Amino acid sequence: MSVVFFAGLGLIFGSFGTVLLERLPKKQSLLGRSRAICCNNILPPWQLIPVLSFVLVRGRCAHCAAAIPWRYPGVEVASAFLFAFARLHEASIVDGFLLSLLLWCLFLITLLDGQWGIIPDSLNIPFAVLGAGYSLSHGVLPFVSGVFGLSFFAVQWLLSRGRWVGSGDVLLGLGVGLALGTIEKVAVALWFSYVLAAIVCLGLIAGKQWTRKQHVPFGPFLAAGFVIAFFGTDTLARVLLGIS
Ligand SMILES: [Zn+2]
Repeated sequence: MSVVFFAGLGLIFGSFGTVLLERLPKKQSLLGRSRAICCNNILPPWQLIPVLSFVLVRGRCAHCAAAIPWRYPGVEVASAFLFAFARLHEASIVDGFLLSLLLWCLFLITLLDGQWGIIPDSLNIPFAVLGAGYSLSHGVLPFVSGVFGLSFFAVQWLLSRGRWVGSGDVLLGLGVGLALGTIEKVAVALWFSYVLAAIVCLGLIAGKQWTRKQHVPFGPFLAAGFVIAFFGTDTLARVLLGIS
């Protein structure tokens, strides 16, 4: 029952997520009525219902009939799955909610950094606070792992004066460290994020899609590394160390 409730909650957060994805890159206020992106018409309340409104208007703006991008219902449905999955993963409702919000923040950070090359503080700071809360709720003091995640990127940021990594990556490093709670897991996350980034960069070079000046956002790779470390470290350790 509570899984269904969490999926519904995920739809609502997903809908809020589409607003953040639309407004954060343009530094627009989060207050004010939602407007259609095509014709700027103020949307009536029924058109704000996640997914259902998209189905009712058959994927077209009710005012100007322009096609509504699939990413809108897509982000809502994906958020619903994240929330339901988080609830199934955690024994308590509070932990389920904390993990839901952690994954939701990371999902939005991935999309924003992937498309715009930005990781806003307004997502990074809640992610770090939620990460600390999640670790503490599981009896883990995440101070050392947090400092490790932070300093790993802060050193690169200082050495390169912000050219190798952005300040958003530094703060995300802190959040990842706080949420993972142990240095071992942070190391796993960093290792996989660099391997994945290297594979993608080599692929782009091979496909001649990449020029030297191009900035490759690191947020999506760190997010992927986080997910692998968060859900897979114990399994990895069992496989690599041969412990059953
Ligand atoms: Zn329109």
